[in-house]
Amino acid sequence: MSDLASKYELIVGLEVHIQLATESKLFASDSTAFGKNPNSNVSVITLAHPGTMPKLNRKAIEYAVRMGLACNCEISRYCIFDRKNYFYPDLPKGFQTTQDKTPICIGGNVPVSLKNGNEVDVTLNRIHLEEDAGKSIHDEDSSDSMIDLNRAGVPLVELVTEPCIESSEVAMSFLTEIRKIVRYLEICDGNMEQGSLRCDANISIRKKGDKKLGQKVEVKNMNSIRNVGRAIEYEFNRQIELKENDDSIISETRLFDANTGTTSSMRTKEELNDYRYFPEPDLSPFTVSEEWLKEIQNNMPATPGMKREKFISEFGLSPYDAGVLTDTKMTADYFENVCQKTTHYKQVANWIMGPIKSVINEDDSDEPALPITENQLVELVEAIANGKLSHSLAMKKVFPALVDSEKSIAELLSELDVETVSQDDISDVILKVVNAFPDKVKAYQNGKKNLLGMFMGEVMKQTHGKADPKKTNELLLEALEKKN
Ligand code: MN
Repeated sequence: MSDLASKYELIVGLEVHIQLATESKLFASDSTAFGKNPNSNVSVITLAHPGTMPKLNRKAIEYAVRMGLACNCEISRYCIFDRKNYFYPDLPKGFQTTQDKTPICIGGNVPVSLKNGNEVDVTLNRIHLEEDAGKSIHDEDSSDSMIDLNRAGVPLVELVTEPCIESSEVAMSFLTEIRKIVRYLEICDGNMEQGSLRCDANISIRKKGDKKLGQKVEVKNMNSIRNVGRAIEYEFNRQIELKENDDSIISETRLFDANTGTTSSMRTKEELNDYRYFPEPDLSPFTVSEEWLKEIQNNMPATPGMKREKFISEFGLSPYDAGVLTDTKMTADYFENVCQKTTHYKQVANWIMGPIKSVINEDDSDEPALPITENQLVELVEAIANGKLSHSLAMKKVFPALVDSEKSIAELLSELDVETVSQDDISDVILKVVNAFPDKVKAYQNGKKNLLGMFMGEVMKQTHGKADPKKTNELLLEALEKKN
C-alpha cells in the first residue's frame, strides 16, 4: 500500500441479488428454466395483462428463510410486499414487487476467514424477497433494443450488508462464502456469469480517524468475484486521487469494465427516480408460523460452517483440512460418504485434498466431476492400510488407472501387477540378500549403519519395488542384527 493510501480507510457495503432455484416464478406458474427461447417462459401474469392477479410461491419464502437462518438473521413473522414504481421497457407492470418496510430477514452476520488466518464478521442489514426484471438486449440488432421477459418475475432474494467491509479481500471472501452457502442450501446455483448471483458495491473512503462516512459511489456490472475485488481497488484509488486534488466525489452509479479494470459514470443519483414505494394491494400479507419455521429449519441442508464443525469434531480433521474439504458441497459430501465406509479419515482427506482435487481443478467443464467413485476411494485407502499396496505405487500407478474407470482395486492390483509382496516373500528375499553380502553385514554390525540403505535398495530391486518399505525396513533391521 502506498503512503497516500495508508492515510485513508475504505468502506464498502454490498448488495447481492440471489436468484432462487424454484421451478416457477415468484407470482406465476411460468417456468424459470435458464437458456430457453426468448419470451417463451411468459404468461399473462408476467406480461401484466389487465385483470391478472399474482399468487405467491411458497417455495420462494422457504428458500429465503433458509438463507436467513444460515446468515443468523431474525426471521420476520409478518410480511407484506411493496410496489417499487419505475418505468423501464423490461418491466411490463411499471413496478417491481419487492419488500421495503418488512424484509423477511432482519440483521444477521456472516463470518469469513482471511488469508492471514483471521476471521471477521460481515454484518447484514437485511435480506428481502423480490422479483427479477426482464432483460434488455442491446447488441443483437444495430438499430433496436430487444426485450426478453423470460427472467421477469423470477424470485430473488436481495441481501444487503452494512457498510462494514474494509478491504477488497473481505468483500471477495464474503462473496465466496455467500456463494458456498447458497449452493449448500440448494437455493441457487451461484453462477455469477449467468447472473444467478449478482453483486453491486457501495464504495466510499474517509481519512483515518474521521467518524463520518464519505460520499458513496455505487458500482454495478461485475460478473465475477475477482472483478468485484478489482472494482473496489480501482474505486479506492480513484476516490483518494479526487480527495487529494480537492475534487468532490459525486454520488453516482458507475459501471465496471472488466477489460480495462476501470469504472465509468453511468448516471448520477440526482437523475434517479423517486420510487414511491407503497404496499402491494393485490397480495395479502403472509405470515411465517412457528411450525412452518421449525419445519423449514429441520429440513434445511447443512451449511458449510456446520459441515466444517462436524469434520473437526467427528472425524478429527484440522480446521485447515476441514476448510479445504468443505470448499465445495461436492467434495464435502464425497468425504462424508466415504467416511461412512472406512475409518481412515485422515487418509481419505489427504487423497481428496491431493490427487483427487488436482484432477478436479484441471477439469474445465462447468460441472467438474469426481474422478473416482466413493467405493474406489474406500478400497484404495483400505488396500494401503492393510499393506496390500504401497503408497508410492498407489500414487504412481493405481490412482491414474482408476481415474474415470469402473474397475475395482482388486482388478487393478492384479492387472497392473502391483500387489505388495507378502511378508514371507520379503523375508526370503532379505535372507538371500544378506547371504550374498557377508562383508557388508560385518561392516554394518561394526557400526557402518548407513549400509542399511544399500540393503534396502537390493531388496527393493529384487521385489520390483512392490515390498512395503516400512515392513521391509523392520524385517531387514531384525535380520542384520541377528546374523552372525
Ligand atoms: Mn433489488
